[in-house]
Amino acid sequence: MVHDLSTWTEPWEVYSDLGFVVLGVSGAELDLLQVLGFRVEIDEEATRLLAEPRPIGPQIGYGGYPTIPGFACYRTVEGTFMTAEDLVAAYPTLSAWVDAGDSWEMETAGGAAGFDMMVLVLTNQAIPGPKPALFVTSSIHAREYAPAELMTRFAESLLTDYGSDPDATWILDHHEIHLMLHANPDGRKWAETGMLWRKNTDNDYCTNSSLRGADLNRNFSFQWGCCGGSSANQCSEVYRGSAAASEPETQAVQEYLRDLFPDQRGPGLNDPAPADATGVYLDIHSYGDLVLWPWGFTFTQAPNGSALQTLGRKFAFFNGYTPFQATNLYITDGTTDDFGYGDLGVAAYTFEIGTSFFQSCTYFNNTLIPDNMPALLYAAKTVRTPYLTAAGPDALDLSLSSATLSAGTPVTLTATLNDMRFNNSEGSEPVQDIAAAEVYIDVPYWGTSPVAYPLAPEDGNFDTAVEDATAVLDTTGLAAGRHTLFVRGQDANGNWGAVSAIFLWIEPPELEVEIFLPVVIRE
Ligand SMILES: [Zn+2]
Repeated sequence: MVHDLSTWTEPWEVYSDLGFVVLGVSGAELDLLQVLGFRVEIDEEATRLLAEPRPIGPQIGYGGYPTIPGFACYRTVEGTFMTAEDLVAAYPTLSAWVDAGDSWEMETAGGAAGFDMMVLVLTNQAIPGPKPALFVTSSIHAREYAPAELMTRFAESLLTDYGSDPDATWILDHHEIHLMLHANPDGRKWAETGMLWRKNTDNDYCTNSSLRGADLNRNFSFQWGCCGGSSANQCSEVYRGSAAASEPETQAVQEYLRDLFPDQRGPGLNDPAPADATGVYLDIHSYGDLVLWPWGFTFTQAPNGSALQTLGRKFAFFNGYTPFQATNLYITDGTTDDFGYGDLGVAAYTFEIGTSFFQSCTYFNNTLIPDNMPALLYAAKTVRTPYLTAAGPDALDLSLSSATLSAGTPVTLTATLNDMRFNNSEGSEPVQDIAAAEVYIDVPYWGTSPVAYPLAPEDGNFDTAVEDATAVLDTTGLAAGRHTLFVRGQDANGNWGAVSAIFLWIEPPELEVEIFLPVVIRE
């Protein structure tokens, strides 16, 4: 019954075990549900809250930017774009603001309305590429307030932490982060008024009605409309559009993905991407507290399904969400992550963050941000080889016997390697004993002529899945200034985990000063 429902509307919440779903429906759809034999209860409180008039905007909220009336934590589309422009002005060597296409309204109005499909690109431009990349789209469903703001906060934290936080620093030095903060800006402007708008605003469909538009997350060209996971009814919330990638927003995302990532998967549905495939694509939605991965169009496991599951369970370790293949909810086709994985072989995920579309700012600040920032940071760390890295242990609690010392003084590095950090709420991820750990000074393992120094187990043996390890490092010859130590661990199956870093500072040498006294000779 849930699958039947999802062919004409989007279930907001699915409780398969308890036998009910939560939907947002019109009066006509309510009648239809009863005709179809559903027992229906109306949530009067939720209905009242949704019908409550909003304060009239614009309002100035977070960071001094325009925010959604009544939600001072969520920047409007314009407020988000102003923020991105200010970030690029403040961090010109670390960021760029790139036009990736037009929204439907911009395309239709020839530039006189609507929005550019902008991407905030973060990387240290002084270090040349090619670099592996993370691409994130957010709020492609307009009413999902939190995703765009979460990703804006992620960008702000990476840039402000650059130079002081070792992990933020090496991520921006060696990786690229591409954030399409608003993947449906036209629709978002309507949702900012309090409308529960989901689709884009294309008025070729369900012409000019309050049900117009295409569901962009059913419009992607991979397996578009294949499998009963979307609707052909133009007025449906899950209308797939008139053709595969018919919408300009979809085209912008697809073209961006294809420009950014190599095609690493064969044309057959059963062709896997290689184990060392590069790139991560996240599409951030709300809501449901879920981490989902392809396939969405079929119950069959994707050819890289096991590795997708491993990384998904890793993300879910950080945010505490429930991880499973997308079809566990219901069949969907023409979706973002099926395209990212299916077309290019990129490790692609949907996060469903939080507990409502118009999430309260209290919940956003106190729960959504702290839950999801570590998952996003982990995604940014693993983009080089996501299918391999996720299986390996994390390097944690890095410390040095002295953070600042003079060259030639030995320094002791300690770290904890942990192979157990998975969310096992849906099945359990295998773990192995730690087998090795190593540290690189300034040149990471992917750099030119990297040199690995081993860490030794503190208790004498690497024989458990969590191990403390240590190394005494010779600092002879290190130049004065900041150095980066890159640490990673390996498990007994040979999986190297994600790198964590710590800074080591070498003091400038003491200057020997000779003093010459001036001598005045009188004639
Ligand atoms: Zn969504």
